[in-house]
Amino acid sequence: MAKFEQIIGLEIHVQLKTKSKMFCGCRNNPDEIEPNRNICEICTGQPGVLPVVNREAIRKALMVGLALDCEIPEYSKFDRKNYFYPDLPKGYQISQFDQPVCAAGKVTIHHDGKEKEIRITRAHLEEDAGKLIHDGATTLVDLNRAGVPLQEIVTEPDFRLPSEAKIFLQNLRNTVRYLGVSDADMEKGHLRCDANISLRSVGEEGLPPYKIEIKNLNSFKAVEAALHYEIKRQTEALEAGETFMNQTRGWDDAKGITVEQRTKEAAHDYRYFPEPDLPIMRFLREEVEAVRVQLPELPHQKAQRFGAEFGLAAKDIEVLINDKSLASYFEDVVSELMEWFAAERLEGDEKKLAKLASNWISGDLQAMLKESGSGVRDSKVSAENLAELIKMIHKNEISTTAAKKILEVMFTTGGDPSHIAEDEGLGQVSDEGAIAAAVDKVISENEKVVADYRSGKKQALGFLVGKVMAEMKGKANPKIASKLLADKLG
Ligand code: ZN
Ligand code: MN
Repeated sequence: MAKFEQIIGLEIHVQLKTKSKMFCGCRNNPDEIEPNRNICEICTGQPGVLPVVNREAIRKALMVGLALDCEIPEYSKFDRKNYFYPDLPKGYQISQFDQPVCAAGKVTIHHDGKEKEIRITRAHLEEDAGKLIHDGATTLVDLNRAGVPLQEIVTEPDFRLPSEAKIFLQNLRNTVRYLGVSDADMEKGHLRCDANISLRSVGEEGLPPYKIEIKNLNSFKAVEAALHYEIKRQTEALEAGETFMNQTRGWDDAKGITVEQRTKEAAHDYRYFPEPDLPIMRFLREEVEAVRVQLPELPHQKAQRFGAEFGLAAKDIEVLINDKSLASYFEDVVSELMEWFAAERLEGDEKKLAKLASNWISGDLQAMLKESGSGVRDSKVSAENLAELIKMIHKNEISTTAAKKILEVMFTTGGDPSHIAEDEGLGQVSDEGAIAAAVDKVISENEKVVADYRSGKKQALGFLVGKVMAEMKGKANPKIASKLLADKLG
């Protein structure tokens, strides 16, 4: 049995997608490649300038806070966080200290078939710093990113497993994407994660006396791997009788290890004090509620609905939900199918059709998308055409093998599945006359099996259906073949 258990918390910085920066009118363009193109007196920290709060950034931060079930306090203010670094021209970062725009919240994650609640400490607003570019012996400063709105989301140390942290982070990425407030691409630095971890003996209450923070984890995999590495490192050290001090470490992705960076300064080292150039903000209840009612359906709500409405399996739901465009594509396909279902006055289970669509989208189609590296909406398979293919499968007009071939053609060249089926000769034969001829032939050629069937060995029918299928090169509708055989054998 393990002697220690791990206490893990996360701090995540999310770059908000706004037209202009947090406190000036400069363009907020994370894709800008020309250095120092989007800068002005304010975001380069010239003396005598005054910052102005970006209302859109506040609205987006509120959306995130509400989605994380945070309290929105009536009053909120900005503070100066003082530190010296060449990418921070003012010598301080405008951030929030004791009155964040979003306070305590909570998120439920699903892990290993269980639900777990993760408490959110706060989700405050601040400005991003610039970037340093190291070029040989020279270091250059690019301030395009300086002053870009950042929302920092801090969790309570509620995670026990690295995989829980990863799931939380994936949920958060999905949430901000569904809200449309950030592209949240970890590789591009839109979403940056620091993780803190410490160990305590099993059975012990309260937090360990130290905290190791791992900075700038830039992928989900890195978060999980770095935490696993630290668990092993700290366990070994504690077992050897060592003690830890608070420390900041970095993650070396290539070597798969964390490396010591510095012994972390305490909060008071930042000499936080209220930003005198910005007014205190007040949020009226009705303003907050107006933002709340405009929230779109969130990923966890959509996941729940996909389960309840269509009976999809958790694994399939995850594939769909993790890609906002795939989820909406699935919904378009399903709405086409439901229209058809109603128009044709079909009997039966609509859920079956939705499940069939989900299987094909999260299975074969998703595999093709992954391999080609394209998004579903840029692919040649329109929702209408995929719905058409699903109908053909549902009506037994084509076999599964044929459907796979048709989908491949749809994916590479585009087009309508029924035309492709015709062109490629992949249609399933449902014509009773053609199947009846094959049935007659099979009956006459398999006298012994036919006799077995007639003497009560009902499972012999399967063998005969197989023979009919082979006779028709796999294109016969197996249901019709089976029915005709049973009829003729009386
Ligand atoms: Zn500026
Ligand atoms: Mn921060």
